[in-house]
Amino acid sequence: MPELPEVETVRTGAEPLLRGRRLGGVELRRHDLRWPIPVAAVQGLAGRRCTAVARRAKYLLLHFDGDGAPVALVHLGMTGRFLVEPVAPRRPRPAWRPHEHWRLDFGDRLVRFVDPRRFGALDVAAGADLSAHPLLAGLGQEPLQPGFDGAFLHRVSRRRRTAVKALLMDARILVGVGNIYASEACWRAGVRPRRAAGSLSRRECDALAAAVGEVLTAAIAAGGTSFRDYRGVGEEQGFFARELAVYEREGEPCRRCGAAVRLTRDGGRSTYWCASCQN
Ligand SMILES: [Zn+2]
Repeated sequence: MPELPEVETVRTGAEPLLRGRRLGGVELRRHDLRWPIPVAAVQGLAGRRCTAVARRAKYLLLHFDGDGAPVALVHLGMTGRFLVEPVAPRRPRPAWRPHEHWRLDFGDRLVRFVDPRRFGALDVAAGADLSAHPLLAGLGQEPLQPGFDGAFLHRVSRRRRTAVKALLMDARILVGVGNIYASEACWRAGVRPRRAAGSLSRRECDALAAAVGEVLTAAIAAGGTSFRDYRGVGEEQGFFARELAVYEREGEPCRRCGAAVRLTRDGGRSTYWCASCQN
């Protein structure tokens, strides 16, 4: 499932291709994905110019000019691909692909949303009320923005019995960190992922916050992690999988101490960790 580095890779890929371009038309092949798509509001984006491609948590935010400065919110869900293809203006468009659900036609660029599992989302918000939009309102701290550090982690983890890894993955507290990067950050910080969050010392919180920042930054530099469905705007793979220390490395030697990486399953979620060098 895409996490922050994958969505950020799509954002940085899409922004230079879409910013400043006028949206000629919108085509929807269905009126719902994970949730209903507000068809009239999406169609109302046609004729407007894209002014920026931003990101909040795992939402891509396509900002448009004109009345109300609307913003299209796009979520990749589990298997979504936000593809941006160069096309010849005023020429026939390519045939629809299997599981392609909607298109944004920018004249010489065609955005195609392909999502076999249909857990993705498309919605529209008014620019002025963006942070109050129901999908964005309850979201927590951005891990690569000021405000995320050891002091923050220490503050939010006090008296909590929830596991450290679950805390890192709680989007009401910290956004964009899922199973892959939470596992990797715990390994980098030398912290057992199933420990109670409230047991973290301030020093451990400092190490964990630094580890989250490092692993996300390194993953963005590698174009994200492509295990299965995730691809960039040109369908390119991300290459962070080869740098993973524990995730999906069960039984392989820990890159720090050589002990076999362990796999623990709880609630259908896989946690990878090293029992010998994570405390
Ligand atoms: Zn180890």
